[in-house]
Amino acid sequence: MPPSDEGGGTAQAVTEGEITMNCEILCVGTELLLGNTVNTNAAELSDLLSGLGINVFWHTVVGDNPGRLAEAVAIARGRADLIITTGGLGPTYDDLTKNVLAESFGRKMEYHPEEAEFLKAWFARNTSVKFTDNNMQQAYLPERCTVLHNDWGTAPGCAFEEGGVHVIMLPGPPNECIPMFRHRAVPYLKRLTGEVIFSRQIRVFGIGESAVEDMLRREMEHMANPSLATYAKFGEVMLRATAKAPTEEQAEAMCQPVVEHVCQLLGDKVYGVDVDSLEALVLSLMKERGLTFAAAESLTGGLISQRFTALPGASAVYKSGAVTYCNECKAAMLGIDLAAIEEKGAVSYETAAAMAQGVRACTGADLAVSATGLAGPDGDGVHPVGTVFVGLADGENVWVRELKLGTGRSRVRQLAANNAFDMLRRYLQGLPIVNK
Ligand code: AMP
Ligand code: MG
Repeated sequence: MPPSDEGGGTAQAVTEGEITMNCEILCVGTELLLGNTVNTNAAELSDLLSGLGINVFWHTVVGDNPGRLAEAVAIARGRADLIITTGGLGPTYDDLTKNVLAESFGRKMEYHPEEAEFLKAWFARNTSVKFTDNNMQQAYLPERCTVLHNDWGTAPGCAFEEGGVHVIMLPGPPNECIPMFRHRAVPYLKRLTGEVIFSRQIRVFGIGESAVEDMLRREMEHMANPSLATYAKFGEVMLRATAKAPTEEQAEAMCQPVVEHVCQLLGDKVYGVDVDSLEALVLSLMKERGLTFAAAESLTGGLISQRFTALPGASAVYKSGAVTYCNECKAAMLGIDLAAIEEKGAVSYETAAAMAQGVRACTGADLAVSATGLAGPDGDGVHPVGTVFVGLADGENVWVRELKLGTGRSRVRQLAANNAFDMLRRYLQGLPIVNK
């Protein structure tokens, strides 16, 4: 098994015939080196590639400089079987990825009339974008390549194989790069391997990655197909079971016992399989039951509401949220007793309980959560930084989780929000809410 510190987590390399998919992602763009643009493409592509069982062993970033790009390509083709480039496919003088890659692999550029027609039609539809002649550069691609048509922008990508190295070029803008990968590169890769790679994601909350790995390491080490890998997501753990087989049904069937085994081992720490997030699960469970939701937030400053309302369809469930920072506002806006807050303290079990009940009462929501605590770096002289109380009220009962979340302001706030969603999902799944 390869070491688990590399892109593919503990996933195995896909070995199919002559193809061992060890991948290098080569992102082109001076803006990435200057720090003006965060290299999200590398992160997202790595995540998607590991889902396909392809190891990403290198991320390289190079500016819009032909000499240095050629050097980077020479290094990449010496060590990787699959090079995925992003960026530099556009019409301007600094878009040189295709030309440099073509030259490095000894290919001429070839004109693609069907891409030229597409570009003309695109500019005819998007009349607010001025057509300039240099746009036609985008219709030139390295000879003998597979054209990866771009339905999300203008610059097509391409793919070819030379000397056992596969090259896939994708555009830079993430809203083009990622759909191009999903809808163009993935089918291309699947055709190469002739096999289907299927994976399932098991989402876990309330237990750390090291503890999960400790429980499963021995088994994971001996698994190749299907394989099982752990990934720490923010405050959560994701396990991915991946199988490859001639058909999707077969690969899915191979994953199933692994998924069942992990779910059995981790019990109710598993909040879902193939769900997007805790909040997405909460939304779908509440929708199913026709329940509504509100939040009263202190240290999270609206994060719970923000994360929830970021989900499409939230309006069916979400009623309102109150960001109540000072004691007076907690009392006035949530209809709770100021003297009680002052007596018990803003960061207390009682205040969290009162906030959840208060926002529930004044919004008429079925379920309400609250969060109050110390995100730091300053403490309150009583509790350590990271002390957080998260409440949940349903009209009959109120539950409060007391948490010690450590330090890091942003981390503490996110974890507090995660706990609010975890309490909700546990309520909705009929599980113990406070004692996880
Ligand atoms: P390009 O295709 O090189 O013209 O890139 C167009 C735009 O896409 C750049 O200006 C960036 O804003 C964005 N972009 C390029 N590469 C990346 C990357 N690796 N990650 C995120 N955004 C990128
Ligand atoms: Mg660029």
